[in-house]
Amino acid sequence: MAKINTPWHAKGNERIRCPFPDCTHIAEVITKIHCRLEHGMERHEVEKLYGLPKSVFVKHPFKAGS
Ligand SMILES: [Zn+2]
Repeated sequence: MAKINTPWHAKGNERIRCPFPDCTHIAEVITKIHCRLEHGMERHEVEKLYGLPKSVFVKHPFKAGS
């Protein structure tokens, strides 16, 4: 099976955040189901209105600044 490579799928250590305003959903994949259940619209509609997911790098989640 070919590797899935769309803006809705994170690559490597990356995570992506849902582009919907006020949505803090961060995941490796922003699913169609998420858009449908959480926002009541299709993923392509979210993209049209709010753009693509933003990359979020999660490197050292346990390292808190001090
Ligand atoms: Zn969302």
